[in-house]
Amino acid sequence: MTTRMIDIAVIGGGPAGLTAGLYAARGGASTLIFERQAAGGQIITTDLVENYPAFPDGVSGMELGERMASQATTQGAELALFSEVTALTRVEEGAPLSETDATPAPAGGGYLLETSDPAAPVFARAVIVATGAVPRKLDIPGEAAYTGRGVSWCATCDGAFYRGKVVAVIGGGDAALEEAMFLTKFATKVYLVHRRTGFRAAQVIVERLQRNEAVEQVLGYVPTEIMGDAETGKVCGLRLASAEDGSERILEVAGVFEFVGTTPISTLVDCGLAPTDESGYIKAGADGACGLPGLFAAGDVTEGTLKQVVTAAGAGASAAHAALHYLETQE
Ligand code: NAP
Repeated sequence: MTTRMIDIAVIGGGPAGLTAGLYAARGGASTLIFERQAAGGQIITTDLVENYPAFPDGVSGMELGERMASQATTQGAELALFSEVTALTRVEEGAPLSETDATPAPAGGGYLLETSDPAAPVFARAVIVATGAVPRKLDIPGEAAYTGRGVSWCATCDGAFYRGKVVAVIGGGDAALEEAMFLTKFATKVYLVHRRTGFRAAQVIVERLQRNEAVEQVLGYVPTEIMGDAETGKVCGLRLASAEDGSERILEVAGVFEFVGTTPISTLVDCGLAPTDESGYIKAGADGACGLPGLFAAGDVTEGTLKQVVTAAGAGASAAHAALHYLETQE
């Protein structure tokens, strides 16, 4: 089987991956970006991004993703949408590219990428892992049973189903507060349930929340069960326990939206290819280098506290710059 040879493969088409692809292509490298869903990554589920520079009135996450993808491809990167990388293997210089292709790997070696298209293995001399993160789950009774029947992780996708209803949002970070406010466009009332009394969201977002009369804050409570109606098979309530004294409270809601942080998608490299921390985030240097030659990581899949579109884009640019420099040193 013939293997497709490229300079740089970018795994993930969110802000980090699309910016990495843009910089890699502009640097003259043949560049292929793999994205298993639509371009844009997590931001496409965000109604309005208000803190990405150059958009004083904000921009929808969907539009920002589309613009980044368009810029990367206009500048020469190839974008493979709905194409998932299923395995990543290091191939040393001179070794056969794969079990079915005896072509020797070029100077510096590289990586074999198996994809959801089994007919098209790809060999890349350098790889930038920008696989991002997925919303974390609470793992409480009722969550799995009522997923898609009242339990959601995406207000932009599902908010309109709750027009005229009461819903609960769980979490105290930027995502929970922003999405709670977004949901008041549809729901008559939004309970914001947070386990502490202090929020970790940015102050400007907290102040806006406090002015929104459709949001009722339920602070110091931990969700213990998502309750369903046996007749309709849909969510009808949220059981809470006080973090202070364990006392119980039940909120009558038709929907529960969870925004309790994210989990990195690092399984491709979490098998000895790159070091990860105890939560699975890739440990990468400032230039994205994460151990093996030609392997870089950028964006939400890496360690670091500030997970923003602008920092992901910056990290993508740095990783591409370092990958281009690495390729030069191999020639
Ligand atoms: P986050 O900042 O990690 O906040 C997660 C929230 O969920 C925290 O308030 C946490 O409570 C709570 N939580 C975690 N596990 C819980 C559990 N088992 N039960 C109850 N509550 C739980 O996550 P995020 O809001 O998704 O944001 C992720 C990153 O994206 C952040 O870096 C954020 O700044 C960024 N982001 C930015 C924007 C923006 O700038 N507009 C928008 C969205 C996201 P504790 O506070 O008690 O730990």
